[in-house]
Amino acid sequence: MKYYSTNGKVPAVSLEEAVIKGLAGDKGLFMPEGIKKFDGTTIDGLKDKSFHEIACLVARAFFGEDVDPDTLDDLVKDTLSFETPVVPITDSIYSLELFHGPTLAFKDVGGRFMARLLGYFIKKKGLGDVNVLVATSGDTGSAVANGFLGVPGIRVFVLYPKGRVSPIQECQFTTLGQNITALEIDGTFDDCQALVKNAFMDQALNEHMALTSANSINVARFLPQSFYYFNAYAQLDREGRAGELVISVPSGNFGNITAGLFAARMGLPIKRFVAANNRNDVFLEYLNTGKYTPRSSVSTIANAMDVGDPSNFARILDLYKSAGDVHKAICADIKGYRYTDEQIAETMQSVYRETGYTLDPHGACGYQALIDNKLQTGETGVFLETAHPAKFKETVDRILGSDIEIPAKLQAFMKGTKQSVELDKEFDEFKQFLLRQ
Ligand SMILES: *Cc1c(COP(=O)(O)O)cnc(C)c1O
Repeated sequence: MKYYSTNGKVPAVSLEEAVIKGLAGDKGLFMPEGIKKFDGTTIDGLKDKSFHEIACLVARAFFGEDVDPDTLDDLVKDTLSFETPVVPITDSIYSLELFHGPTLAFKDVGGRFMARLLGYFIKKKGLGDVNVLVATSGDTGSAVANGFLGVPGIRVFVLYPKGRVSPIQECQFTTLGQNITALEIDGTFDDCQALVKNAFMDQALNEHMALTSANSINVARFLPQSFYYFNAYAQLDREGRAGELVISVPSGNFGNITAGLFAARMGLPIKRFVAANNRNDVFLEYLNTGKYTPRSSVSTIANAMDVGDPSNFARILDLYKSAGDVHKAICADIKGYRYTDEQIAETMQSVYRETGYTLDPHGACGYQALIDNKLQTGETGVFLETAHPAKFKETVDRILGSDIEIPAKLQAFMKGTKQSVELDKEFDEFKQFLLRQ
């Protein structure tokens, strides 16, 4: 299958090239030329399959023309060493828990799959070392670093803002060693991102070393996120609850919800989507006005959603490009809500009080958006619980007056020794550092 650019100014490329490059030459995002649709019998049969079998089926629909089936099955198996259960919270609302992977957030799925697929292509092409640069405000760095840990032929440089990520987040990418190097930048997240962008544009650097990016623009990171939408459907179908599904996605860069829209295009019966935002609400504004006005992000307690210019918005527009009225078509499929920090805290408190379930601040947005969307009789709501609350322990304990337990997986990271290279935010120092590698 070929992958075209949403900007349409460069020719379509192979999967291999799309994965190695990340971003198209015209700065557009890659999109698969076709989306395979499953028939009703296949959808009906999902309930009799394991998560692994479901993921293989979906993976073959996307990547089956480019990667042989046995290799693909191995990649999927290696990626999914954990489950994504649906847990009932109320009579009509379920939490789709995506935090049972190694770094306790949904980004593990895409991070691990991308690492393995890129590793496979590098080996197949006999490429030398490929260097992955990733800027993080906390969560992406851990998922990407852990996904790539020990993958031959790949070195990862995680750039993070000194003193601006939580200790729990920091230890997940600074204690790994091996092929992972943490770069502690004396600056903000935006400075880190600027360093990465400048590196991709620097000719001398690109001649010296092969560089690629691992954020959610990469098709190998974002498409596998559709696996767990199918798996959620299968689980609910077993309980006779999959008839009228409404799925709410806490959204920042909109990669996760876009993977859900792909699942729907592939025939998964989802009645509508709900995009839940914190105060960074450019998407909601687009739904309300038809105008998209990107701006700088503001910080909130759901910080993984602090995005002022969601990169996957271009993919959503592209998915609807053949609709006569694009805005109207998007509004028909996706509803939007936004929450302040105070509202997020209130939701966390009331759910904890009434059901005993601990939401993290991101999942709380997803849950509340289902309440505000007012499910009709017969509808089942599912919100994506995108991270384990212990990842945001200080915030969660403060809001709930709790002392939540840190899962063993997280504790293991906290016992490791921090290793990082401190750099200032000037591009030249970063460049000289990379040139010495
Ligand atoms: C990354 C992240 C999000 C936002 O996901 P997008 O795909 O960027 O919309 C939501 N919650 C958590 C915990 C995250 O880490």
